[in-house]
Amino acid sequence: MYFFKNKFVNKKDVLLSPDDRGYYFGDGIYEVFRVYNGKIYEQAAHMQRLQRTASEVRIELPFTIEKMGHILTQLIEKNGLNEGTVYMQITRGEAPRAHPFPAQVEPILLAYCTEVRRPIATIHNGINAITLEDIRWLRCDLKTLNLLPNVMAKQAALDHGVQEVVLHRNGTVTECSASNLMMIKDRVLYTHPANHLILHGITRAVVLRLALSQEITVKEEPFTTEQLLLADEAFITGTTVENTPILQIDGKAIGTGAPGPITRSLQSEFERTFAQ
Ligand code: PMP
Repeated sequence: MYFFKNKFVNKKDVLLSPDDRGYYFGDGIYEVFRVYNGKIYEQAAHMQRLQRTASEVRIELPFTIEKMGHILTQLIEKNGLNEGTVYMQITRGEAPRAHPFPAQVEPILLAYCTEVRRPIATIHNGINAITLEDIRWLRCDLKTLNLLPNVMAKQAALDHGVQEVVLHRNGTVTECSASNLMMIKDRVLYTHPANHLILHGITRAVVLRLALSQEITVKEEPFTTEQLLLADEAFITGTTVENTPILQIDGKAIGTGAPGPITRSLQSEFERTFAQ
């Protein structure tokens, strides 16, 4: 079952209009929620980010946060989802193609869930990455449907036989195609500050809290690709990837080239945040 506009429908009954502005302009916003044991993880934080993005791009949410939460709970129940993700997007609405915001327009909500297992193998074994210039716009803090640069970046990684890209602006590391990046050097955790150049990841915030509770010094400050290559450990964070170690970047081993001890301890702490 999907939720579309104002009701639960089968996928074949999601009758999207070509005039949906999400389709023409990427004029919409979204969230991806993780479901562990039938429950949405960090729901309030995701809803808060959705609200913030909506207000910044001036899309009026079609329902209250409480009502949307209820819709997602029902969606999970109706689909009998235990472990997976919920995708929810809201576009500005339907109108003949023209750039200005339409005068009368109703935002359109689409939500569905997918059964996905935790990526245990890569969480355990790690991934490799390449560096790539971050060519995105200057509002990467907004979770909008304009994902072409992220799609291109991810494909570049796969074309190079690795799983992720480390994006940088003029040598300053920002984040990855669909995750945030953290590095450890001399027991200090570094990650890009949560400003307009990165998505303020929910997993990022959880892992930073865990790091502080483990008395690891956290420095939210920019660092370069050169510094990253000299790090002791590096890992990515995200709703679906959780906390996945990076073993090599541009063919160079990070630290020993195996998942590091701080990464491992943050991983086990992270697991405790959703374990029953
Ligand atoms: N950065 C980008 C560009 C992303 O697409 C994502 C995934 N939503 C993240 C970071 C990680 O954010 P979160 O932990 O909220 O999934």
